[in-house]
Amino acid sequence: MKPGRKKFNSAFLLILLMGSLVAALLVRVFLEDNPELLEMKNRTPVLGTFATYIVIADSETAGLILSSMDSLARYLDNELGVYGTGELSDLNMRGYALIPALSSDLLYLLENSLFISSVTDSLFDPAMGVLVNTWGFPSDPHLPDSVDIDRALTRSGLNNVRISGDTLLLSSGTLLDFGAIAKGYTADRIYSLSREMGASAALVEIGGEIRCGGDPETARLWRLAVRNPRGDNIMEMMEIENGAVATSGDYENYFFAGGIRFCHILDPRTGYPESGVASVTMVCRNAAFADALATAVSVGGIDTAENLPDSLFSLIIVVTEDENGEVTEWRRGSI
Ligand code: ADP
Ligand code: MG
Repeated sequence: MKPGRKKFNSAFLLILLMGSLVAALLVRVFLEDNPELLEMKNRTPVLGTFATYIVIADSETAGLILSSMDSLARYLDNELGVYGTGELSDLNMRGYALIPALSSDLLYLLENSLFISSVTDSLFDPAMGVLVNTWGFPSDPHLPDSVDIDRALTRSGLNNVRISGDTLLLSSGTLLDFGAIAKGYTADRIYSLSREMGASAALVEIGGEIRCGGDPETARLWRLAVRNPRGDNIMEMMEIENGAVATSGDYENYFFAGGIRFCHILDPRTGYPESGVASVTMVCRNAAFADALATAVSVGGIDTAENLPDSLFSLIIVVTEDENGEVTEWRRGSI
């Protein structure tokens, strides 16, 4: 990311995250510098949301790159998703797995989830599947009985995940759920695939989590707009050459009960949805970290954002809302 680079000096893409956190609209691309390059785009449902892939590549390979990205995203969705029939659902069903037999993808998610948990006072927790199910997210969100929340809490949390010898063990009934990092991780993986296959630049957006970049000589700036969590206008425009942006918020997956907003980001300390944080936008080097950290900061708010090591991010924007509905923006770092 080079803040000093002249605006739109060769090519740029304008992605508007409008109307919804996840809606992305490609406005235009300039490719005059390099007429043999083709820009191709695909928008498709995956990981329980919509994904947009944009590649700029040789006209002979651009189509193949896009279809390979799509195949890899579907494969990872099945292997790492709670609703898949692959590796994660096997592990959740059996309650154990041999660590040497784990795929590099699942190992990455486990290791990096533990790391993100360690830098966020355990507010990021990938072992809360039972609690998420108790709240009914995403298909049947509802206010559960407090007894059910307490019962779900005993089977949730990383304290229910152990390693014995070379075996990973889950306590009885505990479910891993990588919903807060898997979209970002998938964005990283399919971005890397596109570049390995020869794309000179690419952007992947999955449910609002973005990974983008390109060859230095193409000098493309990706222009991204982040939506105001309490309005339909744009809150922030960003220009990024290489990097990742993720936004978590209480305004996409939520319901109201008794005038109170309940969203799908849960506080492991209480078993209840976070409150007081409307959105968190993280700009990081990779989308897996941006995704997971945005979720953790949604739970812990400005305290968590203030304590994150500088090396993990370049910019954090937290939008808070107090009991009177007053909205305040707080930020740390810069692009
Ligand atoms: P989005 O899916 O809108 O991008 P997040 O990245 O914040 O939102 O992920 C939210 C999902 O992560 C929830 O639906 C749930 O599956 C899981 N989750 C909820 N709370 C936490 C938490 N504190 N730590 C880790 N995962 C969580
Ligand atoms: Mg997340």
